[in-house]
Amino acid sequence: MFHKSSVKLAGLYLAVMMAISAFFSLTVYQLSTQEFDRVLRRPVPVQGQGFEGGMGPRYIARLEDNRLEELRIARSRVLMRLIIINLVILMGGGLLSYYLAQRTLRPIEKAHEALERFTADASHELRTPIAAMQNEIEVALMDPQLTLKDAKQQLQSNLEELAKLTMLSEGLLRLAQLSNDKIVFKKLSAKTIIEDAISHVLRRAEQKNILLETSKIKDAKFMGDKSSMAEAVVVLLDNAIKYSSSNSTVSVRVFEKAKTVNIAIKDKGMGIKATQLPHIFERFYRADAARAKQESGGYGIGLSIAKTITDLHGGSISVKSTPGKGSTFTVHLPKA
Ligand code: ADP
Repeated sequence: MFHKSSVKLAGLYLAVMMAISAFFSLTVYQLSTQEFDRVLRRPVPVQGQGFEGGMGPRYIARLEDNRLEELRIARSRVLMRLIIINLVILMGGGLLSYYLAQRTLRPIEKAHEALERFTADASHELRTPIAAMQNEIEVALMDPQLTLKDAKQQLQSNLEELAKLTMLSEGLLRLAQLSNDKIVFKKLSAKTIIEDAISHVLRRAEQKNILLETSKIKDAKFMGDKSSMAEAVVVLLDNAIKYSSSNSTVSVRVFEKAKTVNIAIKDKGMGIKATQLPHIFERFYRADAARAKQESGGYGIGLSIAKTITDLHGGSISVKSTPGKGSTFTVHLPKA
């Protein structure tokens, strides 16, 4: 599809190029023709040296013929050269147009590929729990000895799958919203953002008896949107809790550098392998260790949401991780 479009666009570029070239060639040809005619209208130099004596009307006529012949040759030479120049422009311009058309369409092609990949991944993720639910329901319906207790268990399991589907669709919706979002920047306090985020994850931390350590929080200021920034911090805190074992500690630290306000979230959890680190911000990516841990139940969308939000704030997220020891995710934001 993109090859066809490149050819079409190249054709369009070439047509414009050839129209301009033809216009200039015609102008040059007309101007030179006018110039030749002007020369032709000038009287033959009969008074000059070498014309005196023995110079009759026949001689002058022959001279005039010669001049006409020379002008005709000069005119056709100009025409020939213009044709050659136009042919060269046609060939060179054709190649150049194709190259330019490909360059123009490449970003669109990339965006299209990303969208296709995203749609395929999203439908795969949606299909898996739906197929699991369908299978379970069919098996239950075919079981003649199905008791009320079994049916309730079945419904409970379906409810869990539905909760996952809701989480997935909400995540997808949020990603779609973020790609169209315009951030309304306000001066924010890192401390307020972290307190807000902690209130969202406190119950989950308590359930695993994880201590949230917040003694090193500097009240630095940065520009941003309060709720989306808190959302990004919630993702990081949530992961730190999710991928840590019970009774451990997650610490949050805020520190300033020359140009940035930094929020670091450190856990003593399972960590991430170096080979998997470059991929964790990709949509739907889950490291093997996280996949194996069924109860964590994510879809690999959280970090891409956090990264998109940070990018929208002109910041970045960096990670340091040692498998088996823990990870530190740091959000770097430009200072207010
Ligand atoms: P998920 O819903 O799977 O948590 P995320 O996008 O938030 O999706 O994270 C992507 C992957 O990065 C996770 O599946 C996990 O493998 C890894 N990861 C993220 N945060 C941590 C962490 N604090 N400790 C260990 N692994 C993590």
